[in-house]
Amino acid sequence: PAESDAPTPCDVLVIGGGPAGSTAAALLAQQGRQVVLLEKEHHPRFHIGESLLPANVQLFDRLGLRQDIERIGMPKWGVEFVSPDHDHATMVEFGDAWDKTMPYAWQVRRSEMDEILFRNAAARGAQAIEGCRVRDVQFDAEGATVTAKQDDGSTRRWRARFVLDASGRDTFLSNKFKAKQKNPRHNSSALFGHFRNADRLPGRLEGNITIFWFAHGWFWYIPLADGTTSVGAVCWPYYLKSRKKPLQEFFADTIALCPELQARLSKATLVDDAVYATGNYSYTSTHCSGERYLMLGDAFTFIDPVFSSGVYLAMHSAFEGVGVVAATLDRPAEAAAARQRFERYMRKGPREFSWFIFRVTNPTIREFFMYPENPFRVKEALLSLLAGDIYGKTPIWRSLRVLKTLYYLVSAGHPR
Ligand code: FAD
Repeated sequence: PAESDAPTPCDVLVIGGGPAGSTAAALLAQQGRQVVLLEKEHHPRFHIGESLLPANVQLFDRLGLRQDIERIGMPKWGVEFVSPDHDHATMVEFGDAWDKTMPYAWQVRRSEMDEILFRNAAARGAQAIEGCRVRDVQFDAEGATVTAKQDDGSTRRWRARFVLDASGRDTFLSNKFKAKQKNPRHNSSALFGHFRNADRLPGRLEGNITIFWFAHGWFWYIPLADGTTSVGAVCWPYYLKSRKKPLQEFFADTIALCPELQARLSKATLVDDAVYATGNYSYTSTHCSGERYLMLGDAFTFIDPVFSSGVYLAMHSAFEGVGVVAATLDRPAEAAAARQRFERYMRKGPREFSWFIFRVTNPTIREFFMYPENPFRVKEALLSLLAGDIYGKTPIWRSLRVLKTLYYLVSAGHPR
C-alpha cells in the first residue's frame, strides 16, 4: 500500500503500550491532549514481570484502576527469602515497613494487567493502535515526524509535538542515539515457566513471592490468581554457558540444585511443557530526555528484577514524565528545568535499588534480610525500599545510610 501524504498531527506520540506508555497516554489524554499510542503487538500479549510492589497500588488508584487490578491479582503481603546458608526461611511483611498504609501489592498476569492499562488509555481518549510498530523518528525544533508500519504492511506517519519512548527493552530512541550502555556487573539471563499444582504457603501468605538463592543465581516463585505459579531462574552467565541439554531439561536440572524449591514443585506440572529464556542484563541510556522527547521505564534503564521494581519504576516514570510534556508544550520557559529534574529523578530509583541488588548476596546485607533487626529503624527502611516507597515523604534514607556504613565497615576489602 502507498504511503499517505501528509503526516497526521498530534500533541504526543507514545512508542509502546506497556505499563509506562499506557499510563502516560492515559494521563495526557485525560488532560485533553491529542495522544497517539502505538503498540507493535496485540493485547493481550505475554510479558514477563508478574510481581508488583505496594507503592504501585497508589498509582493504580490515581488511574482509577485499583478494582480492575484487584480483580485479576493475587494479593501479595510480603516476601519469603530462602537461602542455603540458613536452615529456615524468613518471611518479611510490607505491613512492617515504615509507612503502614501500603501493606500489600498483587501478583498479576501481565497479559491481563497490560491490557487493562492499554484499554484505559483508549477509554481516556488516546488513539491506541495495536499491531503498529514505530520504525523511524526524525526530530526537529518543533517536534518529530514518526513513521510506523502496521501489521498489514501499510505505513502511517504522524507529526507529533512531543515523543515519549516507552518501548521497553527494545530501547528505541536509546538505540537510535547510540546511547545505550550495558552494565558489565550484571549480564545474567532468566529461564522461566508456569506450573500447575505447585505448593503454596498457607492462608493469607499464599500469594507472597518467594526468592530462593542457589549456587548459580536466584529463583522467583510467584503464585498467580488462576492457580498457576510462575517460576524463574536468574542465572549468572557462566552457568548458562555450561548448558548442553535442551532448555526444558536444563531448567529441571537447575531446579534440582535448589532442594527447597524442588520440594515445592514435587507434585507440579509445567504448563504446556513450555520453558522460556530471556536476556535479563542491565543497561542504562546516557540520558533520558531531549527537547522533544523522554525515555520512560525500561526504554531508559533496566535493573535486575530481584526486588520486583520494574513495573513500578516504569509507571512512576510516566507520572513524572507528563509534567515535562506539559512544561514543554505549555510553559516552554520551564522546560529545561523540568527536564533536568526528570533526569535526576529517573536515576534515583534504579540507583537506590541497585545498591542493594548488587549486594543482596553479601552476608552483612543478607543478614538484615534474613534476620531483620531494627536498630536505627533499618529493618523498616529496608522493607520500605522493598515496598517501593522511595519517592514519597517516608524518611528512610538516614536508616539506609546506617546500613550502608555498616556494610562498608564490615566488608572493607571484600567488595561483594
Ligand atoms: P514494556 O512492559 O516492555 O512495554 C514496552 C512495550 O513497547 C511492549 O508492549 C512492546 O511490544 C512495545 N514496543 C516495543 N518497541 C516498539 C515499537 N518500535 N513500536 C511499537 N511498540 C513497541 N518487573 C516487576 O515489576 N516485577 C517483576 O517480578 C519483574 N520480573 C522480571 C523478570 C524478568 C526476567 C525480566 C526480564 C523483567 C522483569 N521485570 C519485573 C521488569 C518488567 O518486566 C519491566 O520493568 C516492565 O515491563 C517495564 O515496563 P515498560 O512499559 O517500560 O516496558
